[in-house]
Amino acid sequence: MNEMLNGMYSKMNTSADACTNFYEYACGGWESKEEIPDDRSSWSSFGILSKSNKDVIEKLLASSKEGKANEYYHSCMDQNAINGRGVQPLLSLRDSLNLKFKPGSGCMTSDDYNTLAVDLAKLYKGAGVEGFFCFGVGADAKNSSSNIVGASQCGLSLDERDYYVDKDPHTDKTLLALREYIHSTFTKVEGKEPDATLADGIIDFETSLATIMMDKISLRDPQKTYNKMDSSQLEAKMPKFPLSLFLNKLYDGKPVNKVDVSTPEYFDKLSTLLEKTPKTTVYNFLSWKLFSAHMSHLDAASFAISFKFSQALSGVEKAPRREEICVGRTEGALPDHISRMFVDHKFSEGSKKFAEKMIENIRKAFIKNLDTITWMDKETKLAAKNKALKIKDKIAYPAKIHDDNFLTTHYQTIETDPEKYFENHMSAVKFSVKEECDKLGKPVDKEEWGMTSSTVNAYYDPSKNEIVFPAGILQLPFFQSDYHKAFNYGGIGVVMGHELTHGFDDQGAKYDETGNLKSWWKNSTMQRFEEKTSCLVNQYSEFTIAYNKGQEHVNGKLTLGENIADNGGFHLSYNAYKNDEGSNPDEKLSYSGQGFTAKQIFFLSFAQVWCAKSREAALHRQVMGDPHSPAFARVNGAVANSEIFDEAFDCQRQSNRKRCHVW
Ligand SMILES: [Zn+2]
Repeated sequence: MNEMLNGMYSKMNTSADACTNFYEYACGGWESKEEIPDDRSSWSSFGILSKSNKDVIEKLLASSKEGKANEYYHSCMDQNAINGRGVQPLLSLRDSLNLKFKPGSGCMTSDDYNTLAVDLAKLYKGAGVEGFFCFGVGADAKNSSSNIVGASQCGLSLDERDYYVDKDPHTDKTLLALREYIHSTFTKVEGKEPDATLADGIIDFETSLATIMMDKISLRDPQKTYNKMDSSQLEAKMPKFPLSLFLNKLYDGKPVNKVDVSTPEYFDKLSTLLEKTPKTTVYNFLSWKLFSAHMSHLDAASFAISFKFSQALSGVEKAPRREEICVGRTEGALPDHISRMFVDHKFSEGSKKFAEKMIENIRKAFIKNLDTITWMDKETKLAAKNKALKIKDKIAYPAKIHDDNFLTTHYQTIETDPEKYFENHMSAVKFSVKEECDKLGKPVDKEEWGMTSSTVNAYYDPSKNEIVFPAGILQLPFFQSDYHKAFNYGGIGVVMGHELTHGFDDQGAKYDETGNLKSWWKNSTMQRFEEKTSCLVNQYSEFTIAYNKGQEHVNGKLTLGENIADNGGFHLSYNAYKNDEGSNPDEKLSYSGQGFTAKQIFFLSFAQVWCAKSREAALHRQVMGDPHSPAFARVNGAVANSEIFDEAFDCQRQSNRKRCHVW
């Protein structure tokens, strides 16, 4: 008990007012002690645990040169060999792709379109590079057991269209950094300075793409982004582009009858844009995509060019250690090998049973809570109960990582030549593209995991109606099997409740119990649900962060799904704790003269999972595009809606704002 309380006290600022700023009360001590490391854009409980998981893997990879993952890692670590080869491996890659599209001052002819279609397929299959649209294979949202080709907008170097739209490329500091990145990259790879207008041309083209893209709020709507059509219908949207030729090359002649187009208008407008874009711009843009995708895998000077740009976006002061970079790359290339290493050395099976029991209690709490909800009709409630009962869970790791035969044969084509890191990297890129393309025509693999086992995170997959908790998160500060129950329910319990609630957030609610995008709500109830959730939109839009000497508001619409999940998870996990056998929320736990009740421990444990600090640029980037609210808002937003919290900390209501309750 002392160890637990000691750990919690050390993060607190007990002189802060728990009622007005619970985040500061729970994490103020942590904030004043912890510094964001030079090589990080943020620092948090998540980040600290994630680093410790990576350290475990690093030791295992560094300690031996035997085994596929170790070989891969050591090839990445051999910087002498990598530096000795300069940019040559990238030039050889370009040669081997045998691209035929040529620059020119005019616009594209029909021959050019044909060449372009073939080159785009080669770029993706041979180098993992996508141009001005993205194609992929995944579960059909309305028929979740079969795979379908999906088509969507893409092609920006910066991760948000807002970085481009209504910005002046000659004064905006992010676009200026991008311009320098493009210019330096071409200079380095081609061995001579490019035409001064090259970078501007690429940025102009990307800005045109950004302008015709669907906005991020609409992209969150699974109905709006589901547009299944015959591939000939998509082809008709781009009459000059031979889509069937492209798909034929991409999928090795496998028939593609249907395509789910997430952003149909984008394709209409892209067609017009391409018609008036000079060939040279298209050519330069594709060269840029190829170079920028792999620059950081070349010699130290190329890495530095690519890192300098990420610095501008995230505010980090220096690059992470090479070891850490190579651990991440090895995990990306050989995810199941790394999961195996991590689980074998760091996971205890006892945690799995504990986690399973907690999930069952939280599921029960969700179902029980339905009885208290007044805004839902009876049938919709019954359907919600049914969906909750059908949510599957995956805990810790997939069974296949302990199948040695699978590990050997599945990853056979990934190379691990000690002197050819770049080629090893490319073999991993091609492997993952092929793995994805091969899904076409096959049923959805329900056993697949979307995260490696060392990941400090969790997710809900609406098309599988499942919640997934990798081994990496089943540790402190989320979970410790011998700590007080209130601590575990406040930590991992809230995360479990959060993921389960995603099945009933503004997106998840649109999928049924089998994972199909299909309405199962009565219209009037759906309307009341939307009214309920708009309360959260307004509440979270009030939170601000400091940026550029001013303030920036959290986007309540962008973060709605996560905020519904946070508030639901928090409420459900508390109920699950309270109803768990032998729980006494008013139990006093004392420690060197100070004391907490068990329910206070629950709230503190919840808040301390979110202790976090971010650099200004990184926080700005998060608020712009991340569906998760900043950490302090996640804590203060959820407790502000909780009557039980007020009771636990003896808080008087500060304002007349109405509390937001959905689940
Ligand atoms: Zn979430």
